[in-house]
Amino acid sequence: MSKLVFAYKGRYWVRDSRTLETLSAMAKAAGHTTSLAYDPDLFGVSDNVLSLPWLNRLLFDPRKTAVKAAASGADWIVLLENLTNRPWIENFIKILSESHYKGRIAMVSCRGEASIGGEASIGLLGEPEGVFGGFLKALPGQLPQKLRGEGLADLDALPLPDLDLFAPYEDFRTSYMAYAGKGCSGACSYCEEPYYRKACGPGYARLRRPARVIEELAAVKKRFGTREITFKDSVFTADKAWLKEFLAFYKTAIGVPFKCFGRADAFDPVTAAMLKDAGCYCVEFGLQTFNERIRSSVLKRPETLEAVQKAFAACAAAGLAYDADYIFGLPGESVADHLEAARRFSALAGLNRIKCHNLVYYKGFGVTDYAVKGGYVDEASVEAGDFFSGDRAAPGMRGADSAFRKLFKLYGLPGGRALGLAASSGLWRAFRFIPAFLLKPLELLGGLLRGDRRFFVYLKNYPLRVLKVIVE
Ligand code: SF4
Repeated sequence: MSKLVFAYKGRYWVRDSRTLETLSAMAKAAGHTTSLAYDPDLFGVSDNVLSLPWLNRLLFDPRKTAVKAAASGADWIVLLENLTNRPWIENFIKILSESHYKGRIAMVSCRGEASIGGEASIGLLGEPEGVFGGFLKALPGQLPQKLRGEGLADLDALPLPDLDLFAPYEDFRTSYMAYAGKGCSGACSYCEEPYYRKACGPGYARLRRPARVIEELAAVKKRFGTREITFKDSVFTADKAWLKEFLAFYKTAIGVPFKCFGRADAFDPVTAAMLKDAGCYCVEFGLQTFNERIRSSVLKRPETLEAVQKAFAACAAAGLAYDADYIFGLPGESVADHLEAARRFSALAGLNRIKCHNLVYYKGFGVTDYAVKGGYVDEASVEAGDFFSGDRAAPGMRGADSAFRKLFKLYGLPGGRALGLAASSGLWRAFRFIPAFLLKPLELLGGLLRGDRRFFVYLKNYPLRVLKVIVE
């Protein structure tokens, strides 16, 4: 039996944390003990609530998690590589060595052979759950320097996630993050899903059986008394037959309000009505821009704007709130695009929130090649920043981006009519000067006034999380 310590830096509400929970459950099922060395990256670039990296640097010692992991007596420290955390992993391993860590290091990655250096004792390549199963079978014997997973894991056969890993940090009673499956069939040039699909192989985008997902949710609800669920699948509405079967189960067996992600070309009035009937309180759509040329030629979005408008209208007709994702910093966008977006947002019925993101240029992504070739970004800025912080727009657009970002984030307060007025009158320019320390409370207030459940979750959990990490 081995002692495994999973090390992770970043917010909980992403696929990596769920992957680690599953790997931990697999290790426990094989008779090993597991624990977590965790840096929540509070206020860091991955914090989607309050990203203030300077405060993060001021308050937290970046070495602490690695020093703790080194002192844990672990036989294995397991690291999971994603698109952006390679520098963190390298530094983590360096600190382990400086702290005289005696055990071994396993690095799980689906980024390919090139990404595994000599730092780790073993590189586990391929879909994490598949290759980790092979690793566990090989323990405690002689291990090669690299192990490659063959094919994809059977999602239904995997153990349910080990929630003990993050339970000390996350409040699963207030809200639970669920994944019904993995992946998306889309090929958007700026998204990680096509990247992972290509890296893990054909068939990567798949769903678990409805009954298996319900089994997980029922266990979570029983243990934590969970009151809300967010399905984090990139496109929860992709398979209508699956959705119909699942929602029928969900309504009777789970029955708590939930949120999910939809894609406009996989959404219609029947879908909206089914979701609403089963307790869905909000669907989030990837709009990104109203500029049809950028959407289709640069971002490679699979659906037309007309389909998006129809999906929004279907939600409004069903009385189902919806969020629209909007990305700033797109190559070639202009102030006119933001003005047009404001005009269109202001005319929408039932829109709950405009979720603002920043484009991130990852190596190997279609949008990155397009932007580098077109001179929209220099290679040194590739992979800088995060979805939530750091504007990589053309310098001439940053002022306007800042103003519209604040205007859109505050949509919840004045509503659509005032948004349209601010855009058409030129008042939008003044929003740039709203200080960051005022923006968050105002955004929170707007969300609460609209009755957005996510903001109630933030309000309840975030201060506790800050307190917990500071006390630690
Ligand atoms: S539809 Fe959404 S999840 Fe799918 S590839 Fe495009 S951006 Fe990614």
